[in-house]
Amino acid sequence: MLAQVDAAFAGCPKPEHFTNHTHCSECARHDEFLQQTREDIVAARFIANGDPWCFCGLEGWAYHFPALARLALRKPRDDEDPFNGNLLFHLQPDRRGRDLLNHFSPSQRQAVRRLLQHLQSTRPELVEDGFTRQDLERAIPLWS
Ligand SMILES: [Zn+2]
Repeated sequence: MLAQVDAAFAGCPKPEHFTNHTHCSECARHDEFLQQTREDIVAARFIANGDPWCFCGLEGWAYHFPALARLALRKPRDDEDPFNGNLLFHLQPDRRGRDLLNHFSPSQRQAVRRLLQHLQSTRPELVEDGFTRQDLERAIPLWS
């Protein structure tokens, strides 16, 4: 599944900037975070310091999607917020879901769909968490 994600997003160029970086210090800070390599993004701790993905443009989302897929599958550390709920939050139709769906190619959409199906079948803890389960159940039809 991750190999399919990697292949689908392999050709996405790294944008020069990921956010509207001159807008304010928060946008600049999130741009700096997103300038990291995919590996460093996966290794980074997500703490309550704003959500860089809220500020990230569509090209940045496509570039970092392989990292996002790994974050969604990773068990969060005790001192950080669960990330898979965060990704599912963004993939909602009334959040970034529709824009991302329109931006992504058919093979990229299929990779997102497989990630969502994989989460549903292999992550029972998502089903225990009402908000995350609701996000997953709302995201799957959009991406199907
Ligand atoms: Zn700003």
